[in-house]
Amino acid sequence: MAKTFQDLDTKLIHTGEPMIAGAVSIPIFQSSTFESEGGKSYDAIRYIRLNNTPNHIALHEKLASLENAQAALVTASGMAAISAALFTVLKGGGHLLVQDVLYGGTHGLLTSQFAGFGLSYDFIDPSAPQSWEAKLRPNTRAIYVEAISNPLMGVPEMEAVVDFAKKHDLVSMIDNTFATPVNFRPPEWGFDLSLHSATKYLNGHSDIVAGVVIGRSELVARINVGLRYYGGTLDPHACFLLHRGLKTLGVRVRQQNENALAVARFLEGHPGVARVNYPGLESSPDHERAKRYFGGFGGMLSFEPSGGEKAAKEFMDRVTIPIVAPSLGGVESLLSRPAYTSHLALTPEERAGLGIGEGLIRVSVGIESAEELIADFRQALEWSSGGQTDSKTREDSGRQER
Ligand SMILES: *Cc1c(COP(=O)(O)O)cnc(C)c1O
Repeated sequence: MAKTFQDLDTKLIHTGEPMIAGAVSIPIFQSSTFESEGGKSYDAIRYIRLNNTPNHIALHEKLASLENAQAALVTASGMAAISAALFTVLKGGGHLLVQDVLYGGTHGLLTSQFAGFGLSYDFIDPSAPQSWEAKLRPNTRAIYVEAISNPLMGVPEMEAVVDFAKKHDLVSMIDNTFATPVNFRPPEWGFDLSLHSATKYLNGHSDIVAGVVIGRSELVARINVGLRYYGGTLDPHACFLLHRGLKTLGVRVRQQNENALAVARFLEGHPGVARVNYPGLESSPDHERAKRYFGGFGGMLSFEPSGGEKAAKEFMDRVTIPIVAPSLGGVESLLSRPAYTSHLALTPEERAGLGIGEGLIRVSVGIESAEELIADFRQALEWSSGGQTDSKTREDSGRQER
């Protein structure tokens, strides 16, 4: 009997699991090519670059089911998913409406590559739908937003994006990396394409780079054709790691939702903190929207110590559990300062215009003990706000080993 599963947690474990020689876990098919089956089309050839080895096929089935979508495609990185999707949808001189605060790589793709390929874009404010129509052009083909934006954790007007796309015959696209299918499933809200950096939560262990396109089968098939020629395929070993990482997505993300909310609440109540950005806080301007869309508010937050850049630097030096590193979505907590990492390419004035302060700290909250994380944040803040200049603590030496 064909197996179909209802709940995300069951699908994570049991969908896209071909029983091969009775193996409970899918093996790695470390073979670039496969015996011909006699078909005459390109599709009948099985070859890693064509994304159709058993490891790819199993992942596609699992990933599509997670967002209740028709189809999915794994790619060599999040940027391979985003670029292949945009190049396919905008092919032949298309114009894109795209949210103004964007993941740095996507921002760079638009600003440094688009014009050379005859493509164009206009930025929109994703929370001001009344301002979008004025930016439409005859060649506008798509509208693109991020489920939770980096680094201020803004949430767009999702229904408005989907309605606007339907009304103007555009492809609606969303980068769902920060939300994950556990917290938000864009196809259920009418989005045509949901994109992920699987490097982050989907894999969850900070040990591969991968991407995913999820959505309507006709669109995903067209993107797959492009990807075959761009060459952005995922190798079978990374497929295997992603497949394995996915199985714990539900438990990881729920723990991260819980930990991040606890850390955000702690930070909000601390006198050494000027501002906290987290859609799960009642004080967030996006909280009502986030509540409507999301099953949980995710593991990403950012905050500004009241002492500005100097206090931020001290906090980063003093904290002992999180690792100071870019990227996000793994089991370990990571810290970064957007002004020095993801948004380094912008001028201080541009950053200020977007609300990204020089002292802003971004936190990817892991699955460590929330209590211990909060205690660590407290000691780092209290030191940096001038409270404990006397005692060099045990954690200080631990810090230097990283
Ligand atoms: C990391 C990231 C990407 C790019 O993914 P890579 O796997 O690094 O190519 C795209 N969007 C968001 C929101 C990301 O965090």
